[in-house]
Amino acid sequence: MATQAPVVVRPTGPVELPTSVVVKDLAETLGVSHADVIKELIRNGIFASINQSIDFDTASLVAAELGFEVVQSGIAERASAEAAAQQEIVAPGSDADGSGKPVLWADEAPEDLVTRAPIVTIMGHVDHGKTSLLDAIRSSQVAAGERGGITQHIGASEVVHNDKRIVFLDTPGHEAFTAMRARGAQVTDIAIIVVAADDGVMPQTKEAIDHVRAARVPMIVAINKIDKPDANPDRVKQELADHKVLIEEYGGDVIAVAVSAKQRTGLEELLEMILLVADLQDLKANPTRRAIGTIVESKIEKGRGNVATVLVQTGTLKIGDIVAVGRTSGRVRALQNAAGKRVKTAEPATAVEIIGLDDLPEAGDILRVVEDEKTARDLAETAVRAGEGRTARTLEEISALIGSAEVKELRAVLKTDVQGSLGAIRHALERLNTAEVRVNIISEGAGEINESDIQLATASDAVVIGFNTRPDPGAQRAIDVTGVDVRLYDVIYKLTDDLGAALRGMLTPKLVEQVEGHAEVRLVIKAGKAGNVAGSYVVDGRIVRGGSARLYRAGELIGETRIESLKRFKDDVREVANGFECGIGLGGAEIAEGDMIECYQMVSESA
Ligand code: GDP
Repeated sequence: MATQAPVVVRPTGPVELPTSVVVKDLAETLGVSHADVIKELIRNGIFASINQSIDFDTASLVAAELGFEVVQSGIAERASAEAAAQQEIVAPGSDADGSGKPVLWADEAPEDLVTRAPIVTIMGHVDHGKTSLLDAIRSSQVAAGERGGITQHIGASEVVHNDKRIVFLDTPGHEAFTAMRARGAQVTDIAIIVVAADDGVMPQTKEAIDHVRAARVPMIVAINKIDKPDANPDRVKQELADHKVLIEEYGGDVIAVAVSAKQRTGLEELLEMILLVADLQDLKANPTRRAIGTIVESKIEKGRGNVATVLVQTGTLKIGDIVAVGRTSGRVRALQNAAGKRVKTAEPATAVEIIGLDDLPEAGDILRVVEDEKTARDLAETAVRAGEGRTARTLEEISALIGSAEVKELRAVLKTDVQGSLGAIRHALERLNTAEVRVNIISEGAGEINESDIQLATASDAVVIGFNTRPDPGAQRAIDVTGVDVRLYDVIYKLTDDLGAALRGMLTPKLVEQVEGHAEVRLVIKAGKAGNVAGSYVVDGRIVRGGSARLYRAGELIGETRIESLKRFKDDVREVANGFECGIGLGGAEIAEGDMIECYQMVSESA
């Protein structure tokens, strides 16, 4: 992934910066190297890749440290749209302040807010009756005739109980839930954990509980299949208590309802409890603003093109609205609700199919109505760029955040070979806790590290700790995609040493510059649009493709750039050693015969 880094001249007067700026653009505006900006960010405890956006305050801090005078630009509409969008991204139901409470839309006037329907996801172990329960709830509606018509499958369904709406997401399971959360979307207000009364708490029940807890979403337990002769609801309650889910009879506050999806008993009570929990949450939205929602499903349909179901979370979505959706954008040409009816608008907490998007969005993408097409396209483009740089936080990065007091806990998903070692490791980790910082084990279990562990860690900014175990192939693929930090240990003291250091904020990676070598430009070769190529001779060390570069003319630094391409004769090569000739592409940098190219890389001090 080559990045464009033309040679730039340092600005003289005050630098205008928008409300939000991508790291590499900031470097280019300031005329410094990407590495300088990233180093300064790290010094301030912020880990951003060159493709990520940082806000004005952070950017100006970095700029000031690098010796620039900064002013905020007033004309950067696009930038402010981006910043507003960034703010809004964290708003839908996420606990941006870490309080665990759903955040109301940051800048909404209280008088604009109205109560909205709860959005519910059903989770639990396979075959415990998730699908049956959802079907039973839906068909009870049709039977009761409260809402005529057969519901279409659009990814979410609505039911009405006591004149109040409840929205159910149709994809049960914690996988979809956490995958969305990993992408920054939080749509679920209440999670129903289904446990079969004849089977009890099983591995996926436990996973679902961990995932819901990590998301700080309230849960209701539905003890299903109570019609079965071997149903034992009391045993289920005891097992739940063993997993720290305390239902009311056990002195806790988790509501449990006994149901039978098959005989359709207990459903009314379940719906009642959902409404009760929703009331306590005081869910609000502003129907008068531009809509924001999350994509829950998408498909290409013959004759209709790109069809996506969006769950509107606040605002009202209308036909004709211009929207930015994840990496794509478009104009809403038609809306269709869960009953298959064409509608003109969709209010908060309703699911509607939309057509009119340029491309197919993904589940978990956030939809935003924006002012005009340019803003929509710009936002989609920013999302593409930000996506390239998306990585999970490493233990070092979390440690640095703890060091800068920005973060007070180190979240971990713990996996061990055998159940027996869990307790010992948990206790060893608990001993590291201090009044200020602690290790928060958001999930623990025995066995191989699986995909669910990786997703949970991604969604929760956690690291994964494996003791005498390792990732299975599915997990490995997820690690490759997300970059989640997985630490494997086989002795406890090494594990506690590492995490102890991380907790003290001592694991900060120190990046140091390592000069790789120098090359003298012997000939400037015109190469058209791609910029000129420097026919060079490596005078010492080596030149590395992708490395950073400084350009010197008559001993004076004239610019910072990057080794965009490197060739020996006609072949692309990774590096060229001392004493060889090569063609160096510097991405548009202005080069002249006799210039000296210095190649360097930023490496970890320990490396
Ligand atoms: P899921 O994998 O959690 O979605 O489970 P399903 O809804 O597919 O149900 C798994 C099996 O359990 C099916 O054979 C259902 O018919 C059966 N089942 C679901 N709910 C009940 C129930 O309340 N009572 C009984 N006896 N069987 C049920």
